[in-house]
Amino acid sequence: MTYNCVVLVKQVPDTTNITGKAMKEDGTVNRAALPAIFNPEDLHALEMALQVKEQYGGSVTVLTMGPPRAAEILREALYRGADRVVLLTDRKTAGSDTLATSYALKCAVEKIRDYDLVFCGRQAIDGDTAQVGPQVAEKLGLPQITYAEAIESLEGSEIVVRRAFPLGTERVKGALPCLLTVVESANEPRPPSARRIVSNKLAAIPQEYPALLEKWPEFETEDKLDGYLAARGLKIAVWCGEDAGIDYEKVGLSGSPTKVLKIDSVVLGAEGSKEFEASEAGLSALVRELVEDYIL
Ligand SMILES: Cc1cc2nc3c(=O)[nH]c(=O)nc-3n(C[C@H](O)[C@H](O)[C@H](O)COP(=O)(O)OP(=O)(O)OC[C@H]3O[C@@H](n4cnc5c(N)ncnc54)[C@H](O)[C@@H]3O)c2cc1C
Repeated sequence: MTYNCVVLVKQVPDTTNITGKAMKEDGTVNRAALPAIFNPEDLHALEMALQVKEQYGGSVTVLTMGPPRAAEILREALYRGADRVVLLTDRKTAGSDTLATSYALKCAVEKIRDYDLVFCGRQAIDGDTAQVGPQVAEKLGLPQITYAEAIESLEGSEIVVRRAFPLGTERVKGALPCLLTVVESANEPRPPSARRIVSNKLAAIPQEYPALLEKWPEFETEDKLDGYLAARGLKIAVWCGEDAGIDYEKVGLSGSPTKVLKIDSVVLGAEGSKEFEASEAGLSALVRELVEDYIL
């Protein structure tokens, strides 16, 4: 049996590299001021899906919701082995919280239709909620296996997954179709392949055509470029909310009950720190203090 996989990926600000004003007045992320990267755990989700395809056959479709700039991570997904990529982009979805984001993604996954497995990263490094995967599963009516570290077996419509936690692992059996959220320890994501970079480097969305025409003036017009890309399967599918059947009342700032009011950057200083002697007496003093502070 072959398996069709959908992987949900998010372009995130590189939170290890924050400069300038990271947040806007309305509590949303000032994405323009930050370098953007492929959410790290989503690379592990993509790798797991690619391995399923290699072992059993089927396809890997990668979906992201974000601004046009998010096409960058879709090209990266093509370079790494995805068969098909979809960008869900619509100004009306801007400012969506996890409830609204998972609703929009659920609509897009339903439009993709033919899937056996949906993969997500466990968590995105900007919002950090780890809610989107489980919420998408719930809205699609799928069983979910979170913290997936390995697919131990896949037979017919039965899957056995090893889940990883800080204090151990767990094996669970589930029925397909199902959704997995994947942790970092799952695998080593393959690097982009040189061959795939060459064959997909022109993959683009229409919003990128003006910049492409500057680089390759021989295409002359956007229409000619569009025809060239479409004929070679290099036109990245772009869906707006209506294409995915989204009810606009349920997305964007107005469809999002969560409001992020303020974000502070916390710098932990040495103030108030205490050193304990590396001896039995020092250890006893440390434990006594932790008990007194109700930490233990
Ligand atoms: C600092 C900060 C704090 C926030 N706090 C909250 C909050 O408390 N409550 C709240 O509801 N919202 C919050 N948000 C908004 C939240 O980031 C967005 O709703 C976001 O769309 C999804 O949440 P997440 O980043 O936490 O994703 P997570 O739930 O951590 O993402 C898990 C996985 O879901 C998939 N995924 C997530 N987003 C997308 C996408 N756009 N396209 C495709 N796949 C995706 C990826 O596979 C990802 O690895 C916050 C945002 C920021 C920047």
